[in-house]
Amino acid sequence: MRLRLILILGLTALSLLATTGAAAYPWPVKPFNKQHPIRANFGDPRTIFQLGLFQNGIAGPGTFLFHNGIDIAAKDGTSVYPVMSGVVKLLDAESLSITTTKGRTFQYFHLVPVVTDGEHVVAQRTLLGYVRKGAGHVHLSELRGFRVWNPIAEGGIAPYRDRTKPTVASILLRRWDTLNEVDSLGVCGRISIASEAFDTPPMRVSGTFANFPVSPAAVTWSLRRVGTGLVIAPPSTPVDFRGTLPLAPDFWNVYARGAYQNAPRFGPRQFSLMPGRFLYNLTPTAGIDTRTLVNGVYQVTVRAIDIKGNSQTLNKRFTVVNQPTTETGCPASTPPPPPPPPPPPPPPTTTTTTTP
Ligand SMILES: [Zn+2]
Repeated sequence: MRLRLILILGLTALSLLATTGAAAYPWPVKPFNKQHPIRANFGDPRTIFQLGLFQNGIAGPGTFLFHNGIDIAAKDGTSVYPVMSGVVKLLDAESLSITTTKGRTFQYFHLVPVVTDGEHVVAQRTLLGYVRKGAGHVHLSELRGFRVWNPIAEGGIAPYRDRTKPTVASILLRRWDTLNEVDSLGVCGRISIASEAFDTPPMRVSGTFANFPVSPAAVTWSLRRVGTGLVIAPPSTPVDFRGTLPLAPDFWNVYARGAYQNAPRFGPRQFSLMPGRFLYNLTPTAGIDTRTLVNGVYQVTVRAIDIKGNSQTLNKRFTVVNQPTTETGCPASTPPPPPPPPPPPPPPTTTTTTTP
């Protein structure tokens, strides 16, 4: 009887495993089975701009990456333990990876390690090291097979609850290939659509990262004509960090120019206390040529979703007014104002004798 019960329980566990795809694992810091604050999400922008802000650094070259793990807030010196057992490989002086037998590899960054290369470590038992001075967090990356995976996705770190909604702060219409906004009352020619969106961590983060944005897990958008219900662009999800990450060369296809990370760096200057601006590119390939649309009113709908499915939606209407007679679809630019009239000739000098 007892054996049968164990068998049934075992089968249930197996089927659960099959539906979730992978077994969950605990947190790498104590208490292991309680949620901890996360100060950076999987997919957050990591931007280092080469040029200064006033040298148009924001549109210029740099190093642009997607954050490939989660940053778990923890005081400097906090003990860090493996979330699953496996074999250690030291990556550098302050990071290491642990390869498990379950097809998953975990990487821990910003530590002072106390383990050695090749050492076998036991989940929640072997001390890996301490959060190094000044880090204030441990970065955890997960690889499933050879793909980097969102650690808060199904089958990832647990427990993880999230009752906060992401925010869609704005929807921007821009002249194609520029950062210039187009007035929504008169849209013509080719445009791109971007949206500023962010998530609020479910647990409050303290210190300098308090109230900084983190990335939503996904952003969807659609476009329809107002009044007719005509769908121009059905809902699609150009931003999706719920599983793995896009490739780094696609950074500016996922984020829109104008985006930057928390505490951003432009040239020599770091703006340590400034929150990031998470601006997503919803029309990366060719934007929208509004000349393919009938003049009229349209509505963009943007939805930001977190890993647990909480979401927020924002709509923005715009009016398409293309002119068939011009090449761009936009009204011919107003001719430059006439040059200012020459200064009036100096008044003739008359010698007047004033009598006091
Ligand atoms: Zn990190």
